[in-house]
Amino acid sequence: MDAVEATLRRVFGFAGFRAGQREIVEAVLAGDDVFALMPTGAGKSLLYQLPALVGVAPVVVISPLISLMRDQITALRAKGVAAGALNSGNEPEDNATTLAMIEARKIRLLYVAPERLALDDTIDMLARMRPRLLAIDEAHCVSRWGHDFRPDYARIGEIARRFGAPQTIAVTATAAPRTRADIEDLLFYRRPRHFVHSFARPNIAISVRRRRHALSDVAGVIRGHRGESGIVYCGSRAATDQLAHALAENGVAALPYHAGLDAATRSANQDEFLARADSVMVATIAFGMGIDKKDVRFVCHADLPHSIEAYYQEIGRAGRDGLPAEAVAFVSRMAWMAHGAAQRDLASDARADELAAVNDFARGFDCRWRTVLHYLGERAETCGSCDNCRRRMVWLRKPQALARAARGVFTQRVSRLFTGRAVEAEPDESFSLELAHVARVDDGAELTVEQARRLARFKALRTQVARRSRMAPAQVAADATLVTLARLDPSDFSARARDIVDAADPAVALLLRTLETETERTS
Ligand code: ADP
Ligand code: MG
Ligand code: ZN
Repeated sequence: MDAVEATLRRVFGFAGFRAGQREIVEAVLAGDDVFALMPTGAGKSLLYQLPALVGVAPVVVISPLISLMRDQITALRAKGVAAGALNSGNEPEDNATTLAMIEARKIRLLYVAPERLALDDTIDMLARMRPRLLAIDEAHCVSRWGHDFRPDYARIGEIARRFGAPQTIAVTATAAPRTRADIEDLLFYRRPRHFVHSFARPNIAISVRRRRHALSDVAGVIRGHRGESGIVYCGSRAATDQLAHALAENGVAALPYHAGLDAATRSANQDEFLARADSVMVATIAFGMGIDKKDVRFVCHADLPHSIEAYYQEIGRAGRDGLPAEAVAFVSRMAWMAHGAAQRDLASDARADELAAVNDFARGFDCRWRTVLHYLGERAETCGSCDNCRRRMVWLRKPQALARAARGVFTQRVSRLFTGRAVEAEPDESFSLELAHVARVDDGAELTVEQARRLARFKALRTQVARRSRMAPAQVAADATLVTLARLDPSDFSARARDIVDAADPAVALLLRTLETETERTS
């Protein structure tokens, strides 16, 4: 282990292991299958990168986003590590360089998109290459229950068996018990060792507030963090654009980010956000996976989060330097009403449970952190810093303190009269649209009526493409893939779809073009 630590210092330039890393690296070096649950920012990439440098090589890394792979490979190459990726986002010469490294048996880390993994050529190549370790990053993408479900992730375990079921490590920061069970069932050939690092992030103070007016409410949070960076999550692309624009007009260094923007704008905005110390990213949930900015001081939800797992991921992007940070979620009355209606109408128990959990979290009186951690399967003490904890402490204090607190609240109310009341309440459609009506499709996934309609069209188009390509429809794209595509926001379709399917195959590329045209035509 001394030699391993020396490599850690020499190649990565780190002073030592962070909490939780050492045991896991040891387990990997001992040949165990590992399932590691660690919060965002804990340093999960190191768990498979370091073994690759001390003899457990080659490592095949499955990662969901091309941009995530690219970032890691750039960083590894800068440290002199032989790493490469195979994916459709690469230039042909990149893929050629990577293949040459594989042929020469020089490669230590090979990153592969899950869609690529499923191709027969890739499986043959991996069977020849005989990886020592298979690493699945963002492993929650395996689970149907997770908000990032990726159908091809669900097949990784089965495919891995076809190239020899190598030693496996899966890492994720999202793991409600149901998601964990899925990961374990679908990914592992043998029973893995579990490592669960506490998900508590005591430096993040959570509060939930009533939303009166999105702009003034969010602006209030930003005012409390003048000159600092933060992320504001909105429920829809339109709301994101509007809010970013309004904030920018008011002198905030705010930038929009959602999958409907072209790739150049997205990456320019992301770069600026990473580079500046006082930048506010106004974004849909499309933003954040793999973002490593240490000094994010607040994460604000202008709309209710989709699920507790999603919420945990999103607020986890704050305070990664360990310094105090704040998470504020706003809930509008409209959102509550839509939420309640959706909960009653839902066909699927799983989604209803998720909504009930968001409800418990936002409406409950218990410590917010304890509620979140409980949902993630962890028992925790009260945090002492969330709004509910602070309220309770006020009541438990002496009467004089109570009176003082009440005066404070009164003053706040009065000042709010002058600041908040002047603006009219706005209709909040994004939430109700998303959840209003839900249908069940044959694979058990829930879709809105609109999405179900799109799915039916997509299936018909897939049949046409399959006929032209002389393939079976399921060979062109699995049903589950079509379901995922039908779920995409039509305005974001082109950008998101290319992250989901690997368009290297001509039939898939044709299908993608056809679905894009269809989506443009109908939206
Ligand atoms: P995760 O995937 O768990 O969110 P990452 O692997 O992206 O986390 O690592 C988060 C950050 O922590 C990165 O900047 C990484 O370089 C850094 N890091 C990882 N391990 C260590 C360590 N032992 N010492 C110092 N920094 C580390
Ligand atoms: Mg990571
Ligand atoms: Zn608390």
